Amino acid sequence: FEKIPMKTPLVEMDGDEMTRVIWQLIKDMLLAPYIDLNLEYYDLGLPHRDETGDQVTIASANATKKYGVAVKCATITPNAQRMDEYKLHEMWKSPNGTIRAILDGTVFRAPILVKGIVPYIPTWEKPITIARHAFGDIYKNTETIVPAGSKAEIVVTKPDGSEERQTVHEFKESGGVFQGQFNVDESIESFARSCFNFALDTRQDIWFSTKDTISKKYDHRFKDIFQEIFDAEYAKKFTEAGIEYFYTLIDDAVARVVRSQGGFIWACKNYDGDVMSDMVATAFGSLGMMTSVLVAPDGTCEYEAAHGTVTRHYYKHLKGEETSTNSVATLFAWTGALRKRGQLDGNDRLVDFAGKLERATIDTIEGGVMTGDLAAMSTLPEIRKVNTQDFLIAIKEKLEALL
Ligand code: NAD
Repeated sequence: FEKIPMKTPLVEMDGDEMTRVIWQLIKDMLLAPYIDLNLEYYDLGLPHRDETGDQVTIASANATKKYGVAVKCATITPNAQRMDEYKLHEMWKSPNGTIRAILDGTVFRAPILVKGIVPYIPTWEKPITIARHAFGDIYKNTETIVPAGSKAEIVVTKPDGSEERQTVHEFKESGGVFQGQFNVDESIESFARSCFNFALDTRQDIWFSTKDTISKKYDHRFKDIFQEIFDAEYAKKFTEAGIEYFYTLIDDAVARVVRSQGGFIWACKNYDGDVMSDMVATAFGSLGMMTSVLVAPDGTCEYEAAHGTVTRHYYKHLKGEETSTNSVATLFAWTGALRKRGQLDGNDRLVDFAGKLERATIDTIEGGVMTGDLAAMSTLPEIRKVNTQDFLIAIKEKLEALL
């Protein structure tokens, strides 16, 4: 087998714990033997983030901007317990948050479907991709607890110094809670463009939903921006691609999604996307089968698994015990990134390889060989539950046959 060359470097962001173990296995067993890997490596493992004062995370995001495609391993977001465990200098911020802030992207999460793993909603025959607007709203809110007898107001100071003042509530007998939130047109516009571009890229319809009947200014603004950008920049391209953009109230969207067959993208505001992506992931089955891609408005893409570092399995692994960790989402992060890199570089062999590796993975599971999380859910008559490494060996056998 003549190794596949790579023209432009792919940005590689290494990570933590069990996913870091899997990362190395995937590279050694399923990539390096077939591809002359051209990678720009950034170690986002927590010890190295700490050593570099988190500068490595920023550098990796900037490299992604430069080259256009990255693949990322799951990483620890430190909390108090991790401060002790890793003797950290600081409680570093979530790398995903830092990268997203630099790339200004939208996260698209989609399940990988296989025969034998039936979604809780059996009509879902095709994946449902959730696009979450990961900026603003309650995630950047200002809130306070209000004592009885207070008056809460909203004040906007305009550029000319004038004030627009509205009473939100007079707290007479009872105290309560009060919250201010915001979003900015620029971010909503980026979100809209990322969504429309991704829909064109993947040739899927896109739905967008908010609560604009209740929120007549805030949510309505989202709806208007989407429509204006769609009409001005995308309507024609969508017609040519044979796909649709469709706006509906979130209540209606929920009902339609549940009754649908899948096969579309559902764009959600920040909070809706947070909740709905967990709901959709659970309904499709395993976190180990959810992929995630961050798409910037300029088309830059960062691929990853939607799950975390699978800490429980890692501690078992450290004790020398056998693990059966699902590597599918991490593997599909690699194939997604390699396919995209191949498409941008006009590298057909790389694109073809990505497809074959995905095929080999799906065939392995559909052939009854799978990790513990899937074995617990599969409806196939004959199942062989395998450990982390043997699962990759089984995929490699299928891959060799396809190549
Ligand atoms: P997790 O996704 O690692 O695990 C959640 C649950 O799902 C666990 O029960 C786990 O066993 C199971 N699970 C997840 N992926 C699996 C797989 N591939 N195979 C088998 N089972 C799987 O999330 P968590 O436990 O909440 O967090 C662990 C660490 O991961 C934390 O330090 C957190 O900061 C980090 N995290 C990182 C990301 C990211 O980098 N994108 C996302 C979420 C969590």
